[in-house]
Amino acid sequence: MAEDPRDWEVETRLVRGGLARSPYGEISEALYLTQSFAYDSAEAADARFAGGPGFIYQRFGNPTTQMFEDRLALLEGAEVCRATASGMSAVHVALTGLLRAGDHLVAGRALFGSCRWIISEWLPRFGVETTYVDATDLEAWKNAVRPNTKVLLIESPANPLLEVTAIGAVAEIAHAAGAKLVVDNVFATPIFQKPLALGADIVVYSATKHIDGQGRVLGGAILGAEPLMTEAYKDILRHTGPALSPFNSWVLLKGLETLELRVRKQTDNASRVADVIASHGKTRQTIYCGRPDHPQAAIIANQMTGGGNVVAFDLGSREAAFRFLNALQIVDISNNLGDAKSMATHPCTTTHRSMPEAERLEIGLTEGWVRMSVGLEGAGDLSRDVSRALDAA
Ligand SMILES: *Cc1c(COP(=O)(O)O)cnc(C)c1O
Repeated sequence: MAEDPRDWEVETRLVRGGLARSPYGEISEALYLTQSFAYDSAEAADARFAGGPGFIYQRFGNPTTQMFEDRLALLEGAEVCRATASGMSAVHVALTGLLRAGDHLVAGRALFGSCRWIISEWLPRFGVETTYVDATDLEAWKNAVRPNTKVLLIESPANPLLEVTAIGAVAEIAHAAGAKLVVDNVFATPIFQKPLALGADIVVYSATKHIDGQGRVLGGAILGAEPLMTEAYKDILRHTGPALSPFNSWVLLKGLETLELRVRKQTDNASRVADVIASHGKTRQTIYCGRPDHPQAAIIANQMTGGGNVVAFDLGSREAAFRFLNALQIVDISNNLGDAKSMATHPCTTTHRSMPEAERLEIGLTEGWVRMSVGLEGAGDLSRDVSRALDAA
């Protein structure tokens, strides 16, 4: 009997999941850079448009993109994965596919900047209201739910201060209210956290981050079970066109092959760098999901199997944070994350610059905070670079 890929270990899923070889037997996944497909007969076209198997048009599906979707679904343990052109198109489709005018959304208040824009500026145009809550406060989630609440949205760990939410507990609150729980799982990565297994209905990724992990392409994904995936997303994906390019799908497929190796090495490096940062006299506070002094360490122990590669730390003032960034010799000043190259950024003046100061203060984001995404360089070189820059801060 053929092996069931769902019984494979993670590493095997990442290298062989979703592989659909052409009759040539290529080893590296084929790149089907084609917009449309030819049919053997008018009857065959008729059958395909009636919903039969086979591809029709790149906006609806593509063999390379499907390999990426199947591989990521296998990794996540999801029934279905749909790829999108970016993480933001994944978040946008994930929310709007579940919401309509008159509905209400509850979201953790510490969110990636563009996610906040969609919720605060875009959804209200279509009659969807949002209540933001302190995502670490379960009572606040319960109190925010209304009869018309349809979606709860969590980013955990959240950007940039790595606040962690108890996913299972919020899933119970969502389901008791007849709402769906959507989790943006970028910071945890599919290696270290499985929101669907914890009770979430939908998981979204920016594949731009760890899944590419080598600074090349944008991509995103929405994962979940049937029939929700088809009911909520099939038509919106088909007709609004956030399709992932087959070329980018191919790059991301190759990224998945090494995802586990890279994320584990980044995490080893991050835990060493976090210790260097935390033990330096210049640092007021260090937050890393792999350290026992993380404010939600007990929840992390329940729902994450690794600390990830992002470290946040407070140097007390914007001047000190800038001196730190400007003194780095190996680590880049850049706002991406999950890359092979380590990078650090000052959230207040970059990723979170459009967030009003009052809201920044609500999430504790003052001017001294730096966020660092730890990469694949040697841990000794990184530790030395960071210590030297902290001395200069
Ligand atoms: C980067 C990011 C996004 C957006 O992804 P893009 O691929 O840049 O569109 C969404 N959520 C989180 C948590 C992110 O880090």
